[in-house]
Amino acid sequence: MTPVSSALAHLECSKCGSVLAADVIRQLCACGAPLLARYDLQKAAASLTVAELARRPWSLWRYAELLPIRDLLRYTVSLGEIITPIVPLAVIGGEIGVDDLRCKDDGLLPTGSFKARGAAVGVSRALELGVKAFAMPTNGNAGGAWSMYGRRAGIDAHVVVPRDAPAIHRYEMEAAGAKVTLVDGVIADAGKVVAQMVRETGMYDASTLKEPYRIEGKKTMGFELAEQYDWQMPDVLLYPTGGGVGLIGIYKGLLELRTIGFPIDRLPRMVAVQAAGCAPIVRAFDAGLRESQFWQDSKTAAFGINVPKALGDFLVLDAVYATDGCAIAVDDNAIADARRRVAAVEGMLLCPEGAATIAAAAALRESGWIRAGERVLTINTGNGIKSVL
Ligand SMILES: *Cc1c(COP(=O)(O)O)cnc(C)c1O
Repeated sequence: MTPVSSALAHLECSKCGSVLAADVIRQLCACGAPLLARYDLQKAAASLTVAELARRPWSLWRYAELLPIRDLLRYTVSLGEIITPIVPLAVIGGEIGVDDLRCKDDGLLPTGSFKARGAAVGVSRALELGVKAFAMPTNGNAGGAWSMYGRRAGIDAHVVVPRDAPAIHRYEMEAAGAKVTLVDGVIADAGKVVAQMVRETGMYDASTLKEPYRIEGKKTMGFELAEQYDWQMPDVLLYPTGGGVGLIGIYKGLLELRTIGFPIDRLPRMVAVQAAGCAPIVRAFDAGLRESQFWQDSKTAAFGINVPKALGDFLVLDAVYATDGCAIAVDDNAIADARRRVAAVEGMLLCPEGAATIAAAAALRESGWIRAGERVLTINTGNGIKSVL
C-alpha cells in the first residue's frame, strides 16, 4: 500500500478568513470565530481516489489525507472506529410515507455515540501537538468520549457537566479517570466554568469548535455516507442539531470529497432537527437569519441537542441555506413516540436525538417538504441503551 499522509495545509478563520499555520496549538481566531482545517486538496486527490479507498481498512482512518494528523503511526488514538451501518427503516418509512427511509447508526461507535469520531481525531491531534490536559463542557456523550480517548492517550480530562445531565455519562467519565465538575444550569453555564478553568490553568480548551479538529473527525460521517450511497446522494439528510458540528462536518466533508473529484452527484438537502424546548437554529431559520439568538430556559429530554446558543450557528445555517435544506423542531412527546415506535416495529432503539430525526421526517413528509419518492437519511447519533426516556 502506498504510504498516505495528511494533506493538512493551514487553518482558516470561518468568519474573517485569516490564515494561520496549523502545527501549533490553536483555539479560536483572534476575532472570536472558529478556525477550520484546510487541506492541499490537489495533494489529497493524488492518493485518495475511489479505487484506492476500496483497498483501505474499514475505519474512519481510511480518509487519512483529509484528516489533520501528520504522523498517524505514532499518534493515532483508536478504540476501533468502525464504518457505521446504514439501516433501512422500511416499516416506519411505509407508515410515514417515505419509501426509502434509512438510518446511519452511529450508536455503534466506541463509547456509544458519534462523539467518538470527534474524540478519536481531536485527541489524536491534541497528542501530536503535545497537549497534556484539556477541559470541556458537555451534556454527556462528548465528555464520555473525550475522557475515554484522553485516558488512552495519557491526556488528563477535565469535564464540566450540567447537574441534570443523565448519570450514566458521569459514571463513564469518572470510570475513565476524568475530573468531573457539576454545575447548575445548562451547557452554556458549564462553558463559563470551562472558560475560567482554561484562563487560570492554560489547559487546552476542547469545547465545541474552540479547537479546530473535533469537526475533522465528525466530517467522516459525510465521507462514509457518500461512499455507502455509492456517491448517489440521498435527497434529504436529517441531523439532530445541538452544537451543530456534525452537520457542519458532513457538509464540509462532502464539499472536500467533491472538490477532489469524487463522483458525488449533488448534496442532500440538509435539515437541522432541534427539540421544541431548545430550537435557536429553527427560530433563526424561520426568520431568515444567518445567526441564532441565545434560547432562554432551554429544556428537553434529548440532552445532546440542549444547546441554547452554538458557537458555529452561522455555519449550520450556511449549510442549511446552501443545500436548500431547512430547520425544524419536534417536541419531546413526538421524540418519545418515535423512539418507542421505531423500537417496536424495526427492532432498533434510537437515542432521543436520533428519534427526533424520525419525528422530523414524519412532519416534513406530512407538510409536503419531503416529496413522495424522495430518499431520506436520518442519523442516529447515539446508542439508545445509554438513555432512558
Ligand atoms: C452531541 C450530540 C448531538 C448533537 O451533535 P452536534 O453535532 O454537536 O450538533 C446529537 N445527538 C447526540 C446523541 C449527541 O451526543
